[in-house]
Amino acid sequence: MEVKFDGKRALVTGAGKGIGRDLAKALVKCSAEVFALSRTQEDLDSLVQEYPGIHPVQCDLADPEATKAAVESVGPIDLLVNNAGIIIQESFLDVTLDTFDKVMNVNVRSVMQVSQIVAKGMVERGTGGSIVNVSSLASKSAVKDTTSYCASKGALDMMSKVMALELGPHKIRVNTVNPTIVMTDMGIKVWSDPAKSGPMLARIPLGKFVEVDDVVHAILFLLSDKAAMVNGINLPIEGGFLTS
Ligand code: NDP
Repeated sequence: MEVKFDGKRALVTGAGKGIGRDLAKALVKCSAEVFALSRTQEDLDSLVQEYPGIHPVQCDLADPEATKAAVESVGPIDLLVNNAGIIIQESFLDVTLDTFDKVMNVNVRSVMQVSQIVAKGMVERGTGGSIVNVSSLASKSAVKDTTSYCASKGALDMMSKVMALELGPHKIRVNTVNPTIVMTDMGIKVWSDPAKSGPMLARIPLGKFVEVDDVVHAILFLLSDKAAMVNGINLPIEGGFLTS
């Protein structure tokens, strides 16, 4: 199945590292014009060095004013992937208002803000579009010591469904991907101890964790016209974890 995005402008958040970085490169290979938004300038510099056609957008999505200015500066967007996310590990009894807000602001509020700016442009132009929000299996299956993260991904799934409901009539599809563990920087930070990750692995019938490419391919499909009638879904990428 070949996916092509000729003439399409794509915005990927959290494109400096991990899933977002590989997705930005994959979108270039599919002929999209790519805007890569991330927090750390050095990551964007090295990305542009590798793929000179990519437009870097430095922005901290925790800052709403900076986010507004950055996303408006990008101009019309046809394909949006809200991928940036953070995790703070602490037991439920230790969660503070500050850490809860930090996670919710990046993982949920910024997705609402970025999507609203992009979707308003799509509606005005009447051209439609596709939005994929990178959620997590942590929205479906509780993970110890990640109250804020699990709550944020649960909220993201339901916000995405409301977006799908309201934006569908404007030919804008909205879906999420919900992977289990991927060994990016974030995955390593949380799951590098085999005593912790072993029981998770044991519940995956396919016997392995998710590769970055598994997530990238699912996102490319959802962005593309091959998924023309797929709207409002949360797509688990978990090797069958939820069956056990
Ligand atoms: P990484 O930590 O490897 O990369 C995240 C990227 O997002 C980094 O480039 C980071 O920039 C950027 N980012 C984070 N916060 C901000 C911010 N405030 N403003 C701008 N950019 C920001 O994570 P992954 O690639 O693993 O995760 C990508 C998405 O996938 C996340 O939404 C995550 O929740 C989700 N996911 C990950 C799983 C995993 O096991 N890895 C499993 C399920 C879902 P910087 O480093 O400069 O902060």
